[in-house]
Amino acid sequence: MAELIKVTIDGKEIRVPYDTPLIEACRQAGARVPTLCYNENIRAYGVCRICMVEANEGRRTRLVASCAYPVRREITVQTNTDRLRRNRAMLINLQLARCPDEKVLHELAAEFGVKEAHPRLTRDHEDCILCGLCVRTCAEVVGASAIAFEGRGSQRRVVSPFDDENPACIACGACAFVCPTQCIKFFDENGKRHVERWHRVADMLVCEKCGNYWLPDAVAQTYARKMGLDPASFAVCTNCR
Ligand code: SF4
Ligand code: SF4
Repeated sequence: MAELIKVTIDGKEIRVPYDTPLIEACRQAGARVPTLCYNENIRAYGVCRICMVEANEGRRTRLVASCAYPVRREITVQTNTDRLRRNRAMLINLQLARCPDEKVLHELAAEFGVKEAHPRLTRDHEDCILCGLCVRTCAEVVGASAIAFEGRGSQRRVVSPFDDENPACIACGACAFVCPTQCIKFFDENGKRHVERWHRVADMLVCEKCGNYWLPDAVAQTYARKMGLDPASFAVCTNCR
């Protein structure tokens, strides 16, 4: 049986398996730890820092990004101190300066008492909060690595190579599904799937029975290859099976 480690979160004691991400332990204890870049199905990246908590593993208390912090020994955690709330408010303020129209940021701003981004900080009206969930999902879940970060500081963006169409993108839409700001749009039209943000236009398969376009060809080919299936098994759509 896996080793269980004692974790005390906001005074509540629980036990979790070795290597459990601290944010998961917090959730298990019923603590609300906000995050913009964590998804339990994807490797943690620790970039938004909003999930910081105060962790004490002996004599020292320090701030750690709970999504990227594996529980390996007994630990005591505070998730909602004044210091943490101030820190989160500052980070949300910076994010709002870059993306002043994003609903997910306004929800967090309301929770942490941020009225609006400081006017001197407000630079852009970006719709991407640079959480990297799309990049990690594409690389780790889909296995396509069709998009990546580019640039530094205020010029940092997620792009396809040369900001152009990349055939490595199978037009699956997984990046759009995980994006917290819903800024990755895709639609199907005239037998093509368009993933606008990455300039991808991919052919769709036609169902042999109903004649409707139903799946990007590249997705069918990828599934067939990965699962050892006959590509002909995608000839009929899921509705007609
Ligand atoms: S649509 Fe393209 S970029 Fe997005 S996850 Fe799928 S393969 Fe990657
Ligand atoms: S496009 Fe969406 S998922 Fe990708 S980094 Fe930006 S906000 Fe995150």
